[in-house]
Amino acid sequence: MKTIGLIGGMSWESSIEYYRIINETAKEKLGGLHSAKSLMVTVDFAEIEKLQHEARWEEAGQILVACAQDLERGGADFIVLCTNTMHKLADQITAHVNIPFLHIADATAEKIVATGIKRIGLLGTRFTMEHDFYKGRLINNFGLDVIIPEKADREIVHQVIYEELVLGKIVDSSRIEYKRIMNDLLANGAEGIILGCTEIELLIKEGDSLAPLFPTTKIHAVAAVEKALEEA
Ligand code: GLU
Repeated sequence: MKTIGLIGGMSWESSIEYYRIINETAKEKLGGLHSAKSLMVTVDFAEIEKLQHEARWEEAGQILVACAQDLERGGADFIVLCTNTMHKLADQITAHVNIPFLHIADATAEKIVATGIKRIGLLGTRFTMEHDFYKGRLINNFGLDVIIPEKADREIVHQVIYEELVLGKIVDSSRIEYKRIMNDLLANGAEGIILGCTEIELLIKEGDSLAPLFPTTKIHAVAAVEKALEEA
């Protein structure tokens, strides 16, 4: 089994989900007392969030590069970055380590493509919904048609992430808003929804949408175990 190198803390509310899911998945696949071999480096999210909102991405990238290098030195076989948003810096990270990087958008897109879905709705931080690093990858590498909520609703999705979910607050009225926003995406032709922020699946569960949901924490964590168990 390979050792999974996790960059966590963005936020730790979702990092513990990664830890739980990778170990549950290893146990499911291997049985008995098996768990996943892993290392996790945790950042201080307050530092990262400040750099994000001040658009100081290069500096945030330097922090994540140091984390990835720590994981490589510690013996990790590949890197799992436990946030969608910070995949904006995937190229900066991969340029500075020699071990593979398991991209969250690729793992998610593979699941979507396997269902035959072509038009997909994307929820996430403002950065994930509006910048090109995530949507562009889904469109250019996987041929998907990606739609996002209108501006006022993008603001709601973003605020709920930064003012509630990363603080561990699960608020019923926010779930109702998310359900309305997901329904609007479906009305605009989306055939499924990417929960493209690693905390959204703390709020939104199977059954909160009539269409298939693609929970990125679950998908990424399971993909990590599958990669760890691949034959050399
Ligand atoms: N965990 C979130 C994501 O998946 C947002 C927090 C962050 O900005 O990293 O995008």
